[in-house]
Amino acid sequence: MISAMKEKVFGKSYRAIYKRIDGLFYKFVLINMMITTLIIAFKEPLDFLFIMWVLLSSALIQVVLYFYGVFSPQSRLLVDVVQGKDFLGQKNAILFRFDDGPDPKYTLTILDILKEHKIQAVFAVTGERAEKYPHIIERMGDENHIITNHSYSHSYLISLFSYKKLLREIQRTNDIIHKITGKWPEYYCPPMGHKNMALRKVLKHTGQKVLGWDIRTYDTKRSTHEIVNRVQKHMRSPAIILFHDGVFKWTKEDCQSTVESLKELIQIFKSKGYTIN
Ligand SMILES: [Zn+2]
Repeated sequence: MISAMKEKVFGKSYRAIYKRIDGLFYKFVLINMMITTLIIAFKEPLDFLFIMWVLLSSALIQVVLYFYGVFSPQSRLLVDVVQGKDFLGQKNAILFRFDDGPDPKYTLTILDILKEHKIQAVFAVTGERAEKYPHIIERMGDENHIITNHSYSHSYLISLFSYKKLLREIQRTNDIIHKITGKWPEYYCPPMGHKNMALRKVLKHTGQKVLGWDIRTYDTKRSTHEIVNRVQKHMRSPAIILFHDGVFKWTKEDCQSTVESLKELIQIFKSKGYTIN
């Protein structure tokens, strides 16, 4: 009776504790703290400077891990990221992803190219622009593209947002996309790939997953020739290839090379036997 009770209580509390530390980041922090404690416990005799040194290096490791989790787009330390191999599975499969639109200057041309080649792509749209150009979002939906949430404001400080602020950004954009297309976006694509500690909880609330990429083209800063070369150099499959169909005015960049390189890359991929989704 007592042991059954013990098991129940300990089992429950174990699960509750584990639930709190189930993110990879928390596991790393926990392991790091355990190693720190062991080093301190077995150091004989204990001296103050040594303890301070171990504690400081442990804290530094945790800070470095945290920044890696925030700023590395592929990192799964803070939240799981779906990439090409998870999304596409089969070898030779390619998926184009376009961020930061919709922008009437580029998105419509890109949609025309995709339509001509019967290609379905991912569009990571900001709530602010979706609200401004609902007819483009409507067309994306009608042509069966995957519309994802790229936050409302695309703030460069998004990794500093609190749970409440981040939830508002994501929910507001979900509502706008749903209002136009009648569908809830399944994926959230963090601006610049930046995440934070609150994102995991926010996405649990909205029921969404993070979609990443495998090959970044840096298309807004490069010539058509440079983009085509870069993609070929880094090509592997399955892969999500990241382009942009919109730019922010103050950056003085544009998507002209995106449109041209897209046409060239489609031909190259087709001739090499890739399946473009
Ligand atoms: Zn972006």
